[in-house]
Amino acid sequence: MQRQLVDYALARRSTLARLRAGQMALSDVCDGDTYLLRAAKFHGQITQRPCPVCRKEQVTLVSWVFGGAGGAPSGTARTDSEITALATSSPEFTVHVVEVCRTCRWNYLVQSYVAGVARPEKKPRPATKRSRVAK
Ligand SMILES: [Zn+2]
Repeated sequence: MQRQLVDYALARRSTLARLRAGQMALSDVCDGDTYLLRAAKFHGQITQRPCPVCRKEQVTLVSWVFGGAGGAPSGTARTDSEITALATSSPEFTVHVVEVCRTCRWNYLVQSYVAGVARPEKKPRPATKRSRVAK
């Protein structure tokens, strides 16, 4: 159900490399706010991967849903099962998957994709449909 998947693994790796090389401050990347940390706690999915910065805990993946009229409010964190449900019932929406460490507040956008019910292509309606409506 995922479309237009973009993986930011390379960008993430170079950010971590710059951090280790001292070209970036910890405060530049470990700046997750309370809202994000709360979202990680209540909606996140814990992984087996240790935090690349502090290595004190496993990172949590938080999925943020943007766009999508109707059932999907914009810019809210959703659990995987909620997203699965939305994917079959909501118009197209974008999901940003953010990796979060609740210990050091490291956060990074690792993936984005589009899900939801694709809008039908704009084609002239077949005549048969129109006549059915007329009845
Ligand atoms: Zn950490």
